[in-house]
Amino acid sequence: MEIGSGINSMDLDLHEGHVIEDLKNSAASALPEPSRWLDEEIERNIITTTVDKLLNWGRKTSLWTETSFTACCTFEFISTSSSRFDIARFGMEVLRSSPRHADLMITAGTLTWKMAPQIKRVYEQMAEPKWVIAMGACGISGGIFADSYAVVPGYNRILPVDVYIPGCPPRPEALLAGIELLRKKIEKRSIAKGN
Ligand code: SF4
Repeated sequence: MEIGSGINSMDLDLHEGHVIEDLKNSAASALPEPSRWLDEEIERNIITTTVDKLLNWGRKTSLWTETSFTACCTFEFISTSSSRFDIARFGMEVLRSSPRHADLMITAGTLTWKMAPQIKRVYEQMAEPKWVIAMGACGISGGIFADSYAVVPGYNRILPVDVYIPGCPPRPEALLAGIELLRKKIEKRSIAKGN
């Protein structure tokens, strides 16, 4: 089917296939934990200050989550964001539809290779510093779909993951524990050390 400007749907499918194949080939192994690979880069660029505590307090009390949730773990996230579990106490009650307004990605669900380029793009558009929580077995390793040709065997193949929360799905209490771990990690960030 002709779409316009001489491009047809077959061309678009072929292009999409190439993008996915390139991403697959570059995602043969898991990315390292971000605090390690960022060290050198940040140390090179930022002068030591004494405002770590203030910055970290601000960051850990205003985690803004972007909303690309891909599968069933999402429902546990929805429960967690209800009044019963009260994530407003972490400054997380506002979900962001634009990744440019978000600094936290919670990978609530199975990720297919077809969807992977879009999720990677969303991550790249998020504001720095940013964090990723891999929620559930699918987010960690592909879960029960890990052997499928169509499923990414863990978000850490394409994104640097800070915290892993096991379960299928993890209950809201587990997600809260993971968020608390991330908050502790943020508390320890040092501009001087770059971690
Ligand atoms: S871990 Fe379980 S609940 Fe979560 S997305 Fe995978 S299959 Fe669904």
